[in-house]
Amino acid sequence: MSLSLSAEQPATPDVATDGVWLECIECGDTFAPFDDVRYTCDECDGLLEVRYEDLPTFDDFEGHGVWRYAAALPFESGVSIQEGSTPLYEVPRLEDEIGVEALRIKHEGMNPTGSFKDRGMTVGVKVAEELGVGRLACASTGNTSAALAAYGSRGGMETLVLLPAGKVAAGKIAQASLHDARILEVDGNFDACLDIVQELAAKGEVYLLNSLNPFRLEGQKTIGLEILEAFLADYDTVPDRIVLPVGNAGNTSALYKAFRELVQAGELDEDDVPKLTGVQAEGAAPMVEAIENDADEVRRWDDVETRATAIRIGNPVNAPKALPGIRETGGTAVAVSDEEITDAQRSLAAEGIGVEPASAASVAGLRKLRADGVVDDDERVACLTTGHLLKDPDAAAAAGGDPEPVPADTDGVLEHLQQ
Ligand SMILES: *Cc1c(COP(=O)(O)O)cnc(C)c1O
Ligand SMILES: [Zn+2]
Repeated sequence: MSLSLSAEQPATPDVATDGVWLECIECGDTFAPFDDVRYTCDECDGLLEVRYEDLPTFDDFEGHGVWRYAAALPFESGVSIQEGSTPLYEVPRLEDEIGVEALRIKHEGMNPTGSFKDRGMTVGVKVAEELGVGRLACASTGNTSAALAAYGSRGGMETLVLLPAGKVAAGKIAQASLHDARILEVDGNFDACLDIVQELAAKGEVYLLNSLNPFRLEGQKTIGLEILEAFLADYDTVPDRIVLPVGNAGNTSALYKAFRELVQAGELDEDDVPKLTGVQAEGAAPMVEAIENDADEVRRWDDVETRATAIRIGNPVNAPKALPGIRETGGTAVAVSDEEITDAQRSLAAEGIGVEPASAASVAGLRKLRADGVVDDDERVACLTTGHLLKDPDAAAAAGGDPEPVPADTDGVLEHLQQ
């Protein structure tokens, strides 16, 4: 199977341009990367992956941010707002409480627009430029729209975003709006928005920049590469496990691809690959269901609900790439309640790390898996937090304490403080 960890590097097909091509993960058909606009396989509609004749080695990486990893990407540079190089925080109290050998938080909320989506967009918008398309579009639970609007504007392109009405956090709509996206509020959920934007893309109306677009995932691979480099520097070994929130499973797929390419390049031992561990909200957990049932395919959930709106997704489009990633690395998937998510959001805040609800799912999931004995106490773990606290100010205010009204004089304030 092409997505197995031990897959051989394929021979370079004639359609390759400068050693880069697209390959269908289902039937293996290959396509030229930048000649036509294409999101899935012409033959079987399977998902596509970007393939390279030259695989990256750690020695190839130099510089800062996403483009440090140009050797693992289809271009030398992109439409950039200095994305990547996000902090990997130590959290000693949380590490103690959860009870693992080492716990680090990779805070993707520290990207230019406040989520990891920026890493995919710097590559995706560059490809759009290369293809010469004018109008970019995405369906979004919010963060993709913010990133698309910012990177599209940076690249001088028009942007169109489809959002589920009433289900997108305030900070994200504000960003899409100010960065000048045309915002369509759809009377339906995220999955309905994605169906529509895929049809618009098929009609040639827009260039699609959801994570179905294989080039987005190339940029997102760099999260995994940054984590590996930092762990090698600090602990002289890669993490045992990486825990991450799962919506469309783009990141799960991207991290797995980064590791696979390092294994193929002989840079990482197959047995050392971090266990990819996905976390979903109980109200939107089709991937968890598939892992628990050992199913080949994910069943689409039509009704999804969670306060973690960024992962309120019932039909994870990248499941065919992500399921092998979780299984081949010996990882797992787990669902957490909204209360557990909010608790984890507070625990991170107590370490000074402000994240939006979906992001806290990773820590909530780790806490649960550790309590259940699935995660061992001798593991070194990285949790991904995907978006910034200010993305969803309403959820933050609801999880925190209320402001207290006081009179406008010091005695009144002192009296209030003594109560
Ligand atoms: C997009 C997003 C996710 C989901 O990521 P996938 O790659 O689709 O699984 C999780 N958290 C936040 C904050 C996001 O913006
Ligand atoms: Zn195919």
